[in-house]
Amino acid sequence: MVASWNPETETGNEDFEKMKSAVKVILECIGEDPEREGLLDTPKRVAKAYLEMTSGLSVDPKRHLRKQFTTLSDSMVVVRDIPFKSMCEHHLLPFRGVASVAYIPGPTDEGEGYRIAGLSKFARAVSEYAARPQVQENLTSQVAEAVQEELLPQGCLVIMEATHMCMELRGVQSSGSATVTSAVTGIFSENKDGVKDEALKLIRDVRQF
Ligand code: ZN
Repeated sequence: MVASWNPETETGNEDFEKMKSAVKVILECIGEDPEREGLLDTPKRVAKAYLEMTSGLSVDPKRHLRKQFTTLSDSMVVVRDIPFKSMCEHHLLPFRGVASVAYIPGPTDEGEGYRIAGLSKFARAVSEYAARPQVQENLTSQVAEAVQEELLPQGCLVIMEATHMCMELRGVQSSGSATVTSAVTGIFSENKDGVKDEALKLIRDVRQF
């Protein structure tokens, strides 16, 4: 079973109650009193927050990329600075940042034109992969693999830049440091005809329209 919360009846299932108990235990173990007024509803709030932050576990993010269109050009498409928020699987603390997806459309099965997906679909896929316990490296590869598998482009490049609360609030406490990860498939892997350089330039440089 997986925990669930019904907003209409304002009740959770058995696993939801288990999550609440676990939060209560954490409060007790850090020396807090879970019965004091400010903390009374905290187990419920935390359980609901975790359900929301992991809602991507129950969906298939690839489905967004299955609705496709045909275009006449195989010019590079870059969807840049897609904001995302996620939760690091090592500490269950949030990390957030921006993702950029670049791809070069591949030919349709009929050989007339090239396969593309709606621009917003990349943002939806990123959000859903991010709404799971993650490490940024895997999140980046999962997005690239999804684009590659569903759209069959000539190649795809995904760059993610994020700040991790587990680095800012604990351990080295390095505020302001950013982690950048990338994943490439197809012709971006070989940087054929400089496509990777071009994509990186578009992602980094073009700020004015
Ligand atoms: Zn962490």
